[in-house]
Amino acid sequence: MTAAIYGQRAGKTTLMIEELSYGGQIINTPDIENYPGLMHVSGFDYSTKLYEQALELGAKFMFAQAVSVEDKGSFKIVRTSEGDIEAKSVILATGAKNRTLGMVSAELAGPESGLVGKGVSYCATCDGMFYRGKVTAIAGGGNTALDDALFLSNICSKVYVIHRRDEFRGSPVTAQKLAAKENVEFVLNSNVTGIIGEEKLTGVEVTNKLSGEKRIIETDGLFVAMGQVPDNSRYTNVVDIDDKGYIFAGETCTTKTPGIFAAGDCRTKEVRQLTTAASDGAVAALAAAAYIESLN
Ligand code: NAP
Repeated sequence: MTAAIYGQRAGKTTLMIEELSYGGQIINTPDIENYPGLMHVSGFDYSTKLYEQALELGAKFMFAQAVSVEDKGSFKIVRTSEGDIEAKSVILATGAKNRTLGMVSAELAGPESGLVGKGVSYCATCDGMFYRGKVTAIAGGGNTALDDALFLSNICSKVYVIHRRDEFRGSPVTAQKLAAKENVEFVLNSNVTGIIGEEKLTGVEVTNKLSGEKRIIETDGLFVAMGQVPDNSRYTNVVDIDDKGYIFAGETCTTKTPGIFAAGDCRTKEVRQLTTAASDGAVAALAAAAYIESLN
């Protein structure tokens, strides 16, 4: 959406193609505290403002699944579930998807998918309110897991944070806030190894990596916050991807194909933050505008 804003302001006609809803991963963040100039804003409010800003500047929005991109030299074709789009330049901003427990352990794939919406969730802001006064567990130790835990600790009777190491990847400040909460329990050096429940989730089995000890945690909800995996395999005809699936593109957001750019979490980079994603959007759109000018 930042790319659309910059594309419009560079005098280009910009179309955003989105499969689900605008905003991507950040839409699920309850409270963004680290975006420069915005002290507190929810991911939903922030995304909505970006969306409105892009539309106000004249960008168009289309709900469709992008199926593939073809390079025809001076123009590109984006094939979508709603038909083909012709463009002079394409910015891939595909982000990344939630890593599921089933991706980590094949044994958990069935039980996990069977209980999605019946205790298993990937979005605390979307589903947290269903667990008011109840017990919840979170799998993961990044900023999403910690932010979710903080959010849930304000509405749930008890929150377990299950993380595979004894140090969190997420912000130490948030971890300290959680440590001070009486209803939050850290279950460290541990993995979720079982999902318990028939019609709805009743608990999880957790295995301590160091001792091998297994423990059953009775819980009404399990929020899986174990990071993301990119989904760029459909574009490998026009971009190279690394062994994790991220598009090879540096700070200029250029890919191996002139006129095709990669912006945000979908590309190879060190820091995947809202700020860096927005920054990429600006860089990619200005590069795309310059590329289009170079065609004339
Ligand atoms: P993340 O930072 O990649 O963290 C994923 C967590 O899941 C890590 O703690 C990781 O453990 C764990 N994990 C990954 N694979 C696992 C496996 N196979 N088994 C068990 N645990 C596993 O993902 P995220 O928390 O969703 O954040 C994504 C990006 O968005 C990050 O850059 C983050 O900083 C950013 N973000 C920022 C904010 C904010 O600024 N307020 C909010 C949300 C997200 P290890 O630590 O051991 O690798």
